[in-house]
Parts: sequence; structure tokens; C-alpha cells
Amino acid sequence: PDGRPVPPEDIREQYEQLVEQVRKHRFAYYQEDAPVVSDAEFDELYRNLETLEALHPELVANDSPTQEVGGEVSAAFAAVEHLQRMYSLEDVFSLEELEAWIAKAEAGAARFGNGTGAPAWLTELKIDGLAVNLLYRDGVLIRAATRGDGTTGEDITHNVLTIKEIPQQLEGRNFPAEVEIRGEVFIPSRAFADFNAALVAAGKAPLANPRNAAAGSLRQKDPAETAKRPLRMYVHGIGAREGLETVSQSETYRQLAAWGLPTSPYFEVLPGVKEVLEFITRYGDKRHSLTHEIDGIVVKVDDFATQRALGYTSRVPRWAVAYKYPPEEVHTKLLDIQVNV
Ligand code: NAD
Repeated sequence: PDGRPVPPEDIREQYEQLVEQVRKHRFAYYQEDAPVVSDAEFDELYRNLETLEALHPELVANDSPTQEVGGEVSAAFAAVEHLQRMYSLEDVFSLEELEAWIAKAEAGAARFGNGTGAPAWLTELKIDGLAVNLLYRDGVLIRAATRGDGTTGEDITHNVLTIKEIPQQLEGRNFPAEVEIRGEVFIPSRAFADFNAALVAAGKAPLANPRNAAAGSLRQKDPAETAKRPLRMYVHGIGAREGLETVSQSETYRQLAAWGLPTSPYFEVLPGVKEVLEFITRYGDKRHSLTHEIDGIVVKVDDFATQRALGYTSRVPRWAVAYKYPPEEVHTKLLDIQVNV
């Protein structure tokens, strides 16, 4: 009736099935900390959904999973409104796609022309953990929350207080009146192996993987249980800020480190796409010998003026992207073993 083309019923049906599958997997992953498919399988489903929406834009509803940050707030926790929204990241799955993404962002930045030339790229590891938002007022940690749907998260303050490397009081002086600090809580690979070995020795079931173990550990009802888990954190961004004058992501990292917050040692500010691709190859070769698991590389415009000019979609910033390494063959091997048994 409104003149838009009506998709054939079979396409709509296919679309609705895909939406339902993506929702189901997101629920298992974010709410239950227990995914039933691998990340690569999920990414493929999600990509199919994006492709179908690109071909049939009339199908896209406001509440499509592609328009929302995945995750909700479980009734087991108090809901917390973030002062500034938390976003997800756009994924690319090949170096060619990454180059095209960077070229587009550079063209966007040039249009806004802030006179600083092509942006520098802060390139860092994508830590496979759980996003957490820390709220500090006058240097004191007053609240910690999960990302949730990006607007509202879950209050996990008591659990976060058990993580020793997260300062409850920032070091130094001249703190901003208010700052939201975002980062990733994770379990290092070695600690995960040791923790699982101890579980098995005690006759208990081992945890499936470090990411879900970290998420499950932080979303415990009893902080004493969280305290037993070897949780670490790296901070990688800020949200609302009042009285914080930094002008770039890298300057902010230096400030956060000076306040005693855990920043990752593995980040570099690179002049262009060539250096970014080299970084990706370098870490691709040694991704399994790092202290923690990574599921890719994050590339961000370093200066905040260009970040602001590029802005956000409803789900992701236009100034950052996540490159995902190709999935590995672990599953096939596991299956082979099962078949042989
Ligand atoms: P994402 O994990 O791809 O990217 C966004 C997140 O990356 C941010 O929220 C942030 O917490 C994190 N991050 C890690 N290191 C970062 C850094 N250095 N800088 C900035 N952010 C950093 O997006 P998402 O929306 O959270 O979830 C998608 C991911 O979850 C995919 O990897 C997907 O495969 C997986 N997933 C899997 C299933 C499943 O069933 N297996 C279901 C849903 C989602």
C-alpha cells in the first residue's frame, strides 16, 4: 500500500528464520554465557542476514539484530543506564575488506577536513572477553556495568570490586569530575588452563573457553565466587567525560595508565593502511603465543576530532573497525577424534 516492493513470501520467510536464529544465538551467548555455535558460524549467519537486508532493504525493521547492539539485561541484576552509549564494532573478514573500509573512512575524514591530513590509526588487539563500563567520580570507582544493549547494562559493581588490578581509587591527582572507562575483562590463557586443571582435579566440569568463562565469572550472583576466578582487564576506551581534556585515543591511554588503570602493552599508532596490514600479519603469526586470546585486531582513528566528525551508526562507530582472523580448523580435528573413538 505504501508503494514499496513487497518481497516474495519465501524471501521473507528466509529472512525471519535468519533473524530468529541470530536472536537465539545472541541470547545463548550474552545471557547464558553458553554459546551453542562457534563465533565463526555465528559471524556467517550474521553476515547472511546483512546480505539479505542489503538486497531487500524493505525487510529491515528497527529492531533487526543488525540495528542493535547485541545483549540485554538479565533480571538477576539491577539495570544501569550508561551515561554515554556503548557500541559494538563493525567486522571485516579479509585484508581487502579492511583496505576498502580504511579508504572509505579516510575519504569521510577528508570531507570534514580538520586540516590534520589523513588520520593516524591506533591499532590494537581485539581481546576476547566481556565489555565492562567503569564509572569514576572524582577518582573513585562508583559503579561497574556490562554493556547490555548498549544503553542499559547490568550492575556488576560487587563482582568488579574483586578484580585487584582495577583501582577503586585512581592514582595521582587532578581527576576529572566524571569519566566512564570502557574495557575488556578476560582470563589469560595460562590462568584459564590452570583453573580448568584444578576444576578437573576436583572432579568438576571444566569451563568451555576463556571468553565465556570470563563472562560467566563476572555475572555470578555471589562476588566470593567471582573472586576465585583469575580475571584481568585491559581498558580500551572512554564514554562520558567531564573535565578530561585529552584529544586522542593514544593520549587517553597514557592518561589512563598514569592513573593506574590497566592498559594493553600491545597498541601502536600507525600512519597508514600499509603499516596496519603489517601489524595484522605480525600478530597473526604470534596470536597463540600472547598472554590472552584475541579474536582479531581493532583499528581506530586516533584523534578525537576526526572520531567525532565520523560519528556512529545505531550499532557501531564509523571511526573504528574489527578485523577478524580466519577461523581455525579446531572443530574438524575434534570431530575426527570423536569419530575415531
Ligand atoms: P564484537 O565483539 O565483534 O566487537 C565489539 C566489542 O569488542 C566491544 O564491545 C568491546 O568490548 C570489544 N573489544 C575487544 N577489544 C577491543 C578493543 N581493543 N577496542 C575496542 N573494543 C574492543 O561485537 P559484539 O557485538 O560484542 O559481538 C560479536 C562477537 O560475539 C562476535 O565475535 C561474534 O562471533 C560473537 N558472538 C558469538 C555468538 C555465538 O553464538 N557463538 C553469538 C553472539 C555473538
